[in-house]
Amino acid sequence: MKNHIPLVGLISISLFYSCNNPATKNAPAASNANTPVTGNIVASAPGEPNNYKADSVMFRALANEILLHGKCYSYLDYLSNKIGGRLTGSPQAAAAVEYTYQVMESLGADTVFKQECMVPHWVRGAKETAKILTTQSGEYSVNICALGRSVATPEGGLTAPIIEIDSLAQLKKLGRSGIAGKIVFFNGAFDETEIMTFGAYGKAVAQRWAGPSMASKYGAVGTVVRSMTNALDDYPHTGAMQYNDSFPKIPCCAISTVGAELLHKQLTVDKNTKFHFEMSCATLPDEKSYNVVAELKGTEHPDQYVTIGGHLDSWELGQGAHDDGAGIVHTLEVLRTFKALGIKPKRTIRFVMFMNEENGTRGAMKYAELAALHHENHIAAIESDAGGFSPRGFGVGGNDTQRKKIRGWKDLFLPYGIYDFTGGEGGTDIEPLQKSGTVMIGLMPDSQRYFDYHHTAADTFDKVNKRELELGAAGVAMMAYMLATYGVN
Ligand SMILES: [Zn+2]
Repeated sequence: MKNHIPLVGLISISLFYSCNNPATKNAPAASNANTPVTGNIVASAPGEPNNYKADSVMFRALANEILLHGKCYSYLDYLSNKIGGRLTGSPQAAAAVEYTYQVMESLGADTVFKQECMVPHWVRGAKETAKILTTQSGEYSVNICALGRSVATPEGGLTAPIIEIDSLAQLKKLGRSGIAGKIVFFNGAFDETEIMTFGAYGKAVAQRWAGPSMASKYGAVGTVVRSMTNALDDYPHTGAMQYNDSFPKIPCCAISTVGAELLHKQLTVDKNTKFHFEMSCATLPDEKSYNVVAELKGTEHPDQYVTIGGHLDSWELGQGAHDDGAGIVHTLEVLRTFKALGIKPKRTIRFVMFMNEENGTRGAMKYAELAALHHENHIAAIESDAGGFSPRGFGVGGNDTQRKKIRGWKDLFLPYGIYDFTGGEGGTDIEPLQKSGTVMIGLMPDSQRYFDYHHTAADTFDKVNKRELELGAAGVAMMAYMLATYGVN
């Protein structure tokens, strides 16, 4: 999830995402786990809350199908272990397009199609290297990785004095005299008091996204940013940054938190410490790529669309298992489950594998552009892009009436541990739909371990728990069912 910007959104999650304890709720009992639900299921006539009983039977059927016969874990195994990290423009990203297209076709969607879009093609090059160069105690190698979109260092690497700061505001205070000719080390740590870790990410990520150009404005020659995580370990976390064309493009990398602590300690005893790093990343010409889309046609309101999706591309240091393989296989699992149970949605459901969320969101923009071009009425969109952990709730957008309506379904979700509907955000890929009035909804799994893996070599299949992944898929299936059955107004 979330290469960049939605700072406001992320912060609002932290503000509004309260920490309700499901154990204290009066959760209604789930309907009998053994209730058989077979054949073609068409929702009973609208008119909630009278349909509570029918809907809770449907929720149980969706959960049982996924928990007993789910395929999302094996889809994720293939995506992670057979295809691997899927950086936009790479052969792996192309393989993921073909794989998910074939899976969707095999599941029997009414239609499956690709949406062509041109995508950025940035490559990392050889493994990056870095050293802390002290004046008294020799050199220390540290783990770094280039930030997405960064330019390379000169061949042989870049060596310069390094200066530590912990906020962007400090750049202005230090000014050109304090910064020119130096490497700037952004060491702003995650706020450990943020209970929802996306709140801490939202506060810290501007250093990574905008820091390099803000430092370049004052004459910096390179930047190093502390990795975006609560964890103290030796994995550097990549992620996108954005150059401001008004200033020279300088190379920028992330350093592991262990490396950041070492560098910080060294700088407190020796202000003349230098830093050396070498990176050979490059931006190649744009490539052709695709969103992959499947559709189940609505039986009553085929012209009203509910989109569910995640992003197919990932950073390539790991396998993109949590980010966002989980969202992709949640989406495939919902399609599989609706077909397996013979559910015919009243409104059309689109299952979308978005391309290029991590370093450009071109697929998301293409999807919204085509929706507008074809005058499609997208009433709601759900994104799963916060990992494959146990689902805890949904961020819900829309106007007051729409939020009230959707939050009114909460009791149906409580038996499945999904209890928090207080957040207000959707996801980066569905955001471009918002300006045409689409209600944004984001699956919010437990966030405590997400940033242990996010954008690192550690984001691998073995970090995803099968049952937690399936529960997330069940949550998305339930929300998709309710939106397709009752709409948003
Ligand atoms: Zn993601």
